[in-house]
Amino acid sequence: MTDTLDPSTASMRIDPTRATHLSTALTTILTRIETARPPSAPPVRLVAVSKLKPANDILALHSAPQHHLHFGENYQQELLQKAVLLPREIRWHFIGALQTNKCRPLAEQVPNLWCVESVDTGKKADQLEKGRAALCEREKTYEGVPLRVFVQVNTSGEEEKSGVEPEGAVELCRHVRAQCPHLRLQGVMTIGAIARSKEAKDGGENEDFVRLREVRDRVVGELGLPEGELELSMGMSEDFESAVRCGSNEVRVGSTIFGERPAKGDAKIKETVEEGKE
Ligand SMILES: *Cc1c(COP(=O)(O)O)cnc(C)c1O
Repeated sequence: MTDTLDPSTASMRIDPTRATHLSTALTTILTRIETARPPSAPPVRLVAVSKLKPANDILALHSAPQHHLHFGENYQQELLQKAVLLPREIRWHFIGALQTNKCRPLAEQVPNLWCVESVDTGKKADQLEKGRAALCEREKTYEGVPLRVFVQVNTSGEEEKSGVEPEGAVELCRHVRAQCPHLRLQGVMTIGAIARSKEAKDGGENEDFVRLREVRDRVVGELGLPEGELELSMGMSEDFESAVRCGSNEVRVGSTIFGERPAKGDAKIKETVEEGKE
């Protein structure tokens, strides 16, 4: 792999004990996903949510036997810093709250941004569109390769949650498909209420997941899309198995793989690993 010759990653040490621990945790999640997956359901993508965790952890999972590629980040500055340190082969997912004025630089500056999952207004989609268009203009290898986006839906109706109201999802999805040629509508995403994921642990269906599936089906119907065209991104550490049982195509799991996150102020982009520990 030419990637590992990159000087920035070559200088990044990986603690072998930590690497083994992470790789084992990843396998456990992948097995739990497979066990929960209904027999006829398509494969489920696992996004390892690495926010506030050092780039060393990401490199460890990328170098692990599973060769994990999909990582999720919530903070724009942190993603920009990690993206320059880590192999281009990594497929970044931006899953955090988006600010309209930061959408354009995000799409323009991270060429291997695989997907933005938190689009909840037409204005944000338009800015991502501009950024991706500028990237394609600058780096011709990206020409014709759209940036995937999920429309985030506020299925729980909680005021503090971002996302478009379920009633507005069709219009926003229509806008992305009609007005943003450098974006590809990949599906719809929700976070959901914690209380509902706790309830669903007792075996019931999670209302947020059922609602997101209904929104997806409505978008597919109203836009006349082929069945299976739009994905569901739903399920996190606490509730990913119930999401998979409910038809999720992508789960976003952080703390169950990487452990508890530090406070934002204490997070490090790069961890210093003692020599000899490598
Ligand atoms: C942090 C985060 C996750 C991962 O949460 P865990 O509970 O640590 O698995 C998933 N999705 C979004 C949008 C997040 O912000």
